[in-house]
Amino acid sequence: MPELPEVETVRRTLELAISKETISHVEAPYQKIITQDFKWFQEKIKNQTINRIDRMGKYLIFILDKDAMIIHLRMEGKFYIKSDEPLLKHEHIIFHFVSGKNLRYHDVRKFGTMTLLPLETYLDSEPLNRLGKEPKNIDMKAFYQNLHHRNITIKQALLDQHLIAGLGNIYVDETLFRSKIHPTRNTSSITKKEAEALIDSAKKVLEKAIELGGTTIRSYTSSLGVHGRFQNELMVHMKKGEPCPICGTTIIKMKVGGRGTYVCPNCQH
Ligand SMILES: [Zn+2]
Repeated sequence: MPELPEVETVRRTLELAISKETISHVEAPYQKIITQDFKWFQEKIKNQTINRIDRMGKYLIFILDKDAMIIHLRMEGKFYIKSDEPLLKHEHIIFHFVSGKNLRYHDVRKFGTMTLLPLETYLDSEPLNRLGKEPKNIDMKAFYQNLHHRNITIKQALLDQHLIAGLGNIYVDETLFRSKIHPTRNTSSITKKEAEALIDSAKKVLEKAIELGGTTIRSYTSSLGVHGRFQNELMVHMKKGEPCPICGTTIIKMKVGGRGTYVCPNCQH
């Protein structure tokens, strides 16, 4: 599943490739990716230019002339830029540009979403208005207090996009390991110092992952031929049975809140 660094990699690649392209028309072999009435969407987006591409948490935002298109790739959404090649099976939404190029949204699982909102109000509308801050922008005091008022495991809390945006399963495991905190710890037991360590580690992990173009494991590779290299930096995630890089203890895999979680039982308290 693409997380913040992978989505940022897609954003950067797309911005270089398609900013300033004007949309002539859209076709949708599978319309349900669009969360709104397709006819309305098709009419509204016509003749708008992609001025820039932003990202908030794991959402991609196409800034058009009058509207913002909010995109979530979910499990396996990818974009490809093509011209007149025949349509492939999982290409569900095709944005045709005046230039003759087209942008194709490919999604085997069909979980991705696209929503068009006016530029004036998209930041105050669902889903972006409920999104937490990313680690680099988070207010430490509010974060610590939010943890204190919850009564869930720290792993689940870090996955909650309303509390902190952009961390998914891979980067939460890495953040907890680097902070020496056990994923099953209750949020109310996290000290101020530990909360600071978590944010500090999350920032470093995400920065490094963005620098390396994200993580390419199992099914997800971002589109446009970009393969991330952060998998080489993983310390615990997917390392079951291997020695901890710090202390040599065997890394274990457990379920926390239903998610496969990798832990060094010696380093993480
Ligand atoms: Zn260890």
